[in-house]
Amino acid sequence: MHVIVIGAGLAGLTTAYYLQRDGAQVTVIDRAAGPGLETSFANGALLHPSLVEPWNSPGVFWQVLRWIGREDAPMLLRAKAIPGLLTWGPRFLRNSTPERFALNTQKNLRLAIYSLQLMQQIREQTPIRYEHQARGLIAVFRSEAMQRQMLHAAEALARHGLAFRPLDQAGLLSLEPALAPIAGQLVGGIHYPTDEGGDAHLFCRELTRVLEQGGARLRFGLSADSIHAQGRRISHIQCAGESLQADAYVLAAGSYSPLLARSAGLSLPIRPGKGYSITMPRGRAAQAAPRIGIIDADLHAVVVPVGEDRVRVAGTAELAGYDLSIRPQRIENLKRLLERMFPRFAEKMTSGDFLPWTGLRPMCADGVPILGATRLDNLFLNTGHGHLGWTLAAASGRLVADSVVRRAPSAAVAVDPADYSLQRFA
Ligand SMILES: Cc1cc2nc3c(=O)[nH]c(=O)nc-3n(C[C@H](O)[C@H](O)[C@H](O)COP(=O)(O)OP(=O)(O)OC[C@H]3O[C@@H](n4cnc5c(N)ncnc54)[C@H](O)[C@@H]3O)c2cc1C
Repeated sequence: MHVIVIGAGLAGLTTAYYLQRDGAQVTVIDRAAGPGLETSFANGALLHPSLVEPWNSPGVFWQVLRWIGREDAPMLLRAKAIPGLLTWGPRFLRNSTPERFALNTQKNLRLAIYSLQLMQQIREQTPIRYEHQARGLIAVFRSEAMQRQMLHAAEALARHGLAFRPLDQAGLLSLEPALAPIAGQLVGGIHYPTDEGGDAHLFCRELTRVLEQGGARLRFGLSADSIHAQGRRISHIQCAGESLQADAYVLAAGSYSPLLARSAGLSLPIRPGKGYSITMPRGRAAQAAPRIGIIDADLHAVVVPVGEDRVRVAGTAELAGYDLSIRPQRIENLKRLLERMFPRFAEKMTSGDFLPWTGLRPMCADGVPILGATRLDNLFLNTGHGHLGWTLAAASGRLVADSVVRRAPSAAVAVDPADYSLQRFA
């Protein structure tokens, strides 16, 4: 069986990996010059079952309205994006009822737990190394209201398998001494010991190497222009100057998936959610830098170590269409967040130390990815992971490969593929 995967980000490459293990002949195409150069490039570097809640939490409508026009808003809606959100927006809001939000959170958690199990297998069964760290994640709180809210959320997830431990100030400092300069501002924290860290781009590069060694064909610099359906099947993909054919096709083009799906007559409820990160060397102020990922729940940002020699700040979302320009105000926000969280580290940085980046999270209207079969017999989807694409990568790849080769999902796992099917929007 020959399968063409469109997209060499986390979603496409993990699918290709499992397809190859299942004996398929795989071709991966990507318009970029190499693997993982779009949203999988400089993300928050965390695999976080602790943060699987969709962004459409109850009350999100009023929050987004309040934040309009505020450059420091955690989620900023830009006027030019509104026409593109006319069908997606109401769906996003319909999924913000407490019941749907809780159900969608649980779907993501099950997939996240499965994913971390599979990541461990990948580390054991392949030479892939990606600056993995297993020290967990700490959430810190500046207000008692936020502490109560996050403890409540953690308790709800703990009933479905999430591990967590509340921390007082002393507990916070013993886990992460670099928090000492701001300890007086913190009312407490939570440690999520099973969260992990790792460099997504490095993982994509390593996975590409493994795929190529196993005989897969990786074609970079090749853009898919359209996907052609004939009756209930895809007949071919049209790329610049050539048409490609296979027995099955996997669409894993991140935020661009809905644009390609449309050419095959499918509508995907996915829109881009722009995010930013800055990455800097830890060298000059290593003692003052975090050793463990920290999320400041009140400031809506994460500061994470990436491997032994870098620190990254990531956060905030903008609904701004497909605009990939880097806005200086958003980068200044991230620098200010770093100053507020790790002031002694931040003061040692010079402007040349910061590597700014932006990427488009493929945000599905219900906050859960879309995986598996479509009404076209040989077209499969692995997309819509929003802020969770690294956390859910391995499990998503496994489930989609299962669906392509028509293999029953592993009996040991409590995930139901129907929870992630496009059919849920029918
Ligand atoms: C600031 C930020 C922080 C984040 N932090 C985290 C985190 O800490 N943990 C986490 O779990 N997730 C995080 N995410 C989300 C995660 O990075 C994404 O969900 C994930 O990278 C999406 O992977 P993907 O493979 O679907 O998309 P992409 O990585 O964008 O890959 C899609 C690929 O398709 C290719 N492509 C698109 N169109 C075409 C075409 N027409 N023809 C050929 N190729 C095409 C692109 O070149 C690209 O390589 C973060 C995202 C952002 C923006």
